[in-house]
Amino acid sequence: MSRDLLTLADQQALLREREADHFHDECGIFGVHGHPEAANITYLGLYALQHRGQESCGIVSSTGREQFVHRAMGLVADVFGEKTLEKLPGRHAIGHVRYSTAGGSHLRNAQPFYATTDGGPVAIAHNGNLVNANTIRRELEGRGAIFSTTADSEVIVQLLARSREQTLEERLIDSLSRVKGAFSLVVLTRDALIAARDPHGFRPLSLGRLDGAWVAASETCALDLIGAEHERDLDPGEVVVIRRGRLRTLRPFTPAPKENFCIFEYIYFARPDSNLNGQNVYSYRKELGRMLAREHPVAADLVVPVLDSGNTAALGFAEESGIPYEQAMIRNHYVRRTFIEPAQSIRHFGVKVKHNAVRGLLQGKRVILVDDSIVRGTTLIKLVSMLRQAGAREVHARISSPPTIGPCYYGIDTPTREELIANQHSVDGIREIIGADTIGYLSLEGLHNVSKSLKHGYCDACFSDNYPIPVSREGPPPQLSLFREIEEGGS
Ligand code: AMP
Repeated sequence: MSRDLLTLADQQALLREREADHFHDECGIFGVHGHPEAANITYLGLYALQHRGQESCGIVSSTGREQFVHRAMGLVADVFGEKTLEKLPGRHAIGHVRYSTAGGSHLRNAQPFYATTDGGPVAIAHNGNLVNANTIRRELEGRGAIFSTTADSEVIVQLLARSREQTLEERLIDSLSRVKGAFSLVVLTRDALIAARDPHGFRPLSLGRLDGAWVAASETCALDLIGAEHERDLDPGEVVVIRRGRLRTLRPFTPAPKENFCIFEYIYFARPDSNLNGQNVYSYRKELGRMLAREHPVAADLVVPVLDSGNTAALGFAEESGIPYEQAMIRNHYVRRTFIEPAQSIRHFGVKVKHNAVRGLLQGKRVILVDDSIVRGTTLIKLVSMLRQAGAREVHARISSPPTIGPCYYGIDTPTREELIANQHSVDGIREIIGADTIGYLSLEGLHNVSKSLKHGYCDACFSDNYPIPVSREGPPPQLSLFREIEEGGS
């Protein structure tokens, strides 16, 4: 693999990224084997998974003889059109949507990654974060490897390319046995689709059937859109190899002491119409809202959700408390991540673009404002003040998960520990900062009680600080020297 010439800004970004002790990637993955419209189906699957990553996306397809790829920054609907999809022929394809924090926003980090190995071409789409990626990377670089991205997922490709095992499946398994952390993967070889989950089962991955073809998707909402039958979810540590229409199951890894499915997938990240491990996300969120109402009752006139994240929990809260649910703040769904701010004279412009209060409903009212979580506190600071300006007499914040005290190292985008408001302030301190009359978080015990309906173990490290895979600082990254690219014709 050759590294593209990097601009100085690129190299500095690369340095910054590598200085971070972990990467934050949120992603959705999709794969199809044996369908005449594989790329089209993958496009639709990614469309349904767009909430899992809005920064870049990509599809790799295979005819069995040739492979094709298109990756770009942007949303699925903007990146792929009819003409692009026509150029991705073949009966097999995989796709990826990705979001990462600022440092990693580069096309070169867009997935699927692909490489030509002496065992044939291989493309990989990865959801999750690896906790020993820097260590492996340093080791491989020390032996002459050249990395072309800054994403942790590339170590899987690099290890696979170097593995001494025979077949690509064996090489993949060899490579995955060396990485630690979270991975749900779809892998495309010339003629096979491979899907795999790490032994802890941090991230979801479902299997489905469509007109005799096999499909794999991060969430069942993607299977619904394409009209596929949900077959089952992959087990933690399971690898399935689908070739010539037949599926073979392997369980090559040492099992983890317990399953550690990400509880935050249920609380916030997954779409409410998805079923994770057979549990409908919508019903679970509603139960969180009900439990929250029992734990933190308060006399009020309205239950108002922060749309869309607090919507389902607010419905549960309203049903349990008997207080009417009203969408007294409306969300504009067409807001992109960046927009041009006007002069400073328009105050709170940013928050008004996304949410606006329905004044007529709020005058003189005691409001319970429900959201799923508080990260830095930015959203609630703005929304509580917006409700008051719109005439609310009292504002009571209710959060359908416990205080977020730890960052995620396994695939949810969270800021550093220091930036988490619940890590720096007491619950009453947070109440004061956001300007609410009262605040109530769901207790950890309440979360565990609601989660008794789940038929599997889960990771709640962001709330309990109990990390199932130890996360240590991996030490400083190796020194990179900078090449300054000069402009032709400059004086
Ligand atoms: P903050 O404004 O920083 O307190 O963030 C809280 C808001 O962000 C809530 O409305 C959450 O639903 C939402 N949120 C929580 N976790 C994430 C995440 N990983 N990515 C994007 N939004 C999130």
